[in-house]
Amino acid sequence: MTDRVKYLLDETKLPTTWYNLAADLPSPCPPPLHPGTLQPLGPEDLAPLFPMALIEQEVSTEREIEIPRPVRDVYRQWRPSPLFRARRLEQALQTPARIYYKYEGVSPAGSHKPNTSVAQAFYNREAGIRKIATETGAGQWGSSLAFAGALFGIEIQVFMVRVSYNQKPYRRALMETYGARCVASPSAETQYGRDVLARDPDCNGSLGMAISEAVEVAATNADTNYALGSVLNHVLLHQTVIGMEAIEQLESADDYPDVIVGATGGGSNFAGIAFPFIGAKLRGGPDVRIVAVEPAACPSLTRGRYAYDFGDTAHMTPLTKMHTLGSTFMPPGFHAGGLRYHGMAPMVSHLKELGLIEARALLQQECFEAGVQFARAEGILPAPEANHAVRGAIDEAIRCREEGVSRAILFNLCGHGHFDMQAYMDYFAGKLTNQTYDESELAMALAGLPSVG
Ligand SMILES: *Cc1c(COP(=O)(O)O)cnc(C)c1O
Repeated sequence: MTDRVKYLLDETKLPTTWYNLAADLPSPCPPPLHPGTLQPLGPEDLAPLFPMALIEQEVSTEREIEIPRPVRDVYRQWRPSPLFRARRLEQALQTPARIYYKYEGVSPAGSHKPNTSVAQAFYNREAGIRKIATETGAGQWGSSLAFAGALFGIEIQVFMVRVSYNQKPYRRALMETYGARCVASPSAETQYGRDVLARDPDCNGSLGMAISEAVEVAATNADTNYALGSVLNHVLLHQTVIGMEAIEQLESADDYPDVIVGATGGGSNFAGIAFPFIGAKLRGGPDVRIVAVEPAACPSLTRGRYAYDFGDTAHMTPLTKMHTLGSTFMPPGFHAGGLRYHGMAPMVSHLKELGLIEARALLQQECFEAGVQFARAEGILPAPEANHAVRGAIDEAIRCREEGVSRAILFNLCGHGHFDMQAYMDYFAGKLTNQTYDESELAMALAGLPSVG
C-alpha cells in the first residue's frame, strides 16, 4: 500500500483563499492587448464575456483572494485532495528519492478542472448570467463545466472539436448526463462555423476554432458568457488550491519538495501545484526546482516563440504575450488531447522567461510507458496528459538513484485515464507512434504571428 500522507475531510483543512502569484512576481506580466486597437485591454473590453468578479481576479495583484463560501462547500466534496507518497514506485525504481503525488482525479469529473469550473459557474451565477458557452478538446473541460453548471443552475453549451466528438462519445455522454448541450465544432450554429463549413464541409475542427465559436455565441447574446478552462490568470488562480493544500500536507509529513513536476497544456494544473511554492521561494523561502513537461508534438514552452499572439483561430480573442506555436498551428493527433493547445499561459511563459521554471518536451511512448509503470505500482491509471508529469517525476527519481542522493519530488497527478482506455489499448497493441509536428508547418504558423510594436 502507498502511504496516505493526509486525507482529512475536515473543513478547517480546506484553504480559505487562493494564492495570487502576481503579488510576488519580480516584474509584472506584459499586459493583454485589444485585438483591434493593439492597445492594453481595459476591464470593459472583457465585460461581454466574463463577470466582473473574474475580470478583477484577472488583473489583481492581491496576494490572497478569498474562496467564496458556496465554492468551498462544493470543493469539500473531494477537497483536500489526497497527497500520496509513492513508496511502491520508489521501490520499483530502486531510488533513494521520496516521491509524492497530489491526486486530482478524485473530483467528480476526474481531473483538476472542476477547481475552476465551480468557481466560474458561481461568479457567473452571482452576476445573473443564464448560460455559458465554451469549447472542449478531448472533453475534460466540457464535462467539468457541465458538472458546475448543473450545480449552479446555468445552461452550458459546449463546442467540442469534431474529431473528438466522433472519437470520444463517452465524454460527450457525461456532459449530456450533467444536462449540457454538446455540439460538434465547426457547427452551423455560428457565423464563423458556417463560414468554415462552406469552405471545408468535412473539417475536423480544432481547439482554436471551437474557441472562436463559443466566443461568438457569448459576444452576441447578452445573457450568455464565455468560460475558458486554462491559460487565463483567474483560471490559474483557482487551481492554486492544489499547491496550498500540498504545502500543508507535506508539512504534516515533515517534508518539503526539492523538485516539483507538472504536465503543461495551457498551464493551469502546473500553475496550481507550483505557484504557491514559487511564491514562497520569491518571499525568501526554500529553493525549489520547478519542471514543466509538455508533449514533443506540441512543444510551446520549449520550441515556441515568446510573442504576442491570439488565443483562437478566428482572431477574436485578445492578444497575450506567451510562448506560442502560432494560432494556426495544427498539432498532430496524439493521445494527450488536453495538451494540444498552440499557446501557454502568459503567467507560466513569463516565469520561463524569468528563469524561475524549466521546461522539457517528451515523446508519447515514453510517457505511456511511465503511466503503465505507475499504474502497476500505485494502482491509479493516469490520464494521458498526466503521464507527462509521471514520466518527468520518474526521470528525476532515476537521477537521484544515479547521483546517490535523496530528494523530495512532488508531482501533480492531474486526472485519471478511465475515459482514455482506447489510448492504452493502442499503446499495448503497439499502435502508438511518436508523433512530431511538421517543421515547415510550424515555421509557417510562426511567420503568421501578428506584428506588435
Ligand atoms: C485539461 C487537462 C490538462 C491540460 O490543461 P492544463 O491547463 O495545462 O492543466 C492536463 N491534464 C488533464 C487531466 C486535463 O484535463
